[in-house]
Amino acid sequence: MTDVSFAANPDITFRSSDGVLFHIHKIHLQVEAGGFAPTEFHAPGEVVSLTEDSATLNILFKFLYPACRAANSLESIDPGLLETVAEAAEKYEVYTAMDVCYARLGEALPAEAYRIMIFAYKHENHELLDKAAVALLAHPFEEVMKKLPRDLAVHWALYYDTWSRLQRKACTWHATEYKWRCKSSQCVNIMRDMGEDVLVVMSAELIAKLTEAHGNKGGSWTDYVKKKSENIPKFSSFFK
Ligand SMILES: [Zn+2]
Repeated sequence: MTDVSFAANPDITFRSSDGVLFHIHKIHLQVEAGGFAPTEFHAPGEVVSLTEDSATLNILFKFLYPACRAANSLESIDPGLLETVAEAAEKYEVYTAMDVCYARLGEALPAEAYRIMIFAYKHENHELLDKAAVALLAHPFEEVMKKLPRDLAVHWALYYDTWSRLQRKACTWHATEYKWRCKSSQCVNIMRDMGEDVLVVMSAELIAKLTEAHGNKGGSWTDYVKKKSENIPKFSSFFK
């Protein structure tokens, strides 16, 4: 990449880890970012070295300029680069970049769930953390436990257990409440499907089948499963 300038008459220069110079305007740093060292301390002509590479800084710095920002939606960005831009946006407090990065990370789910969960945990972004946690419910429990860092895995186990308990109760609810009255093969199939994985209790398809089987009567199976799954605490609340 050749040296980059986003507008005429820049007054501060940064060097990326791979040696590309970015000529920037101090005023944009002051307005759009909170995390750069105070720019008045820099001598004229001084080049400030940063640890981020040019691909990352080229995207990050565009967010400082309203004219470049609109074209910087990061819609088809590589997930690895998105993460390094998001890290840099956090570090230098480039607020508009943080918003876009968080939106794109959320959209990348359910793919990249591990990467996104670890990122969200590190930066205490509860909204993203909760979305990633739901995505990880679809992964095998053992795999998640092995792949997450230990402090996250401990909380994950508690979260998963809450879902797992609901799943078991949802499976047995019919057997206790409709023991004598219902022998429908449809219900037998529903119970079998419910045993498959913990996410099944959130499935709209399953809820529709439950409603079809027993209607909308108060205290029905559907109400039970819906209410209980809505009441499961979000993953972030397990850290309180
Ligand atoms: Zn039934």
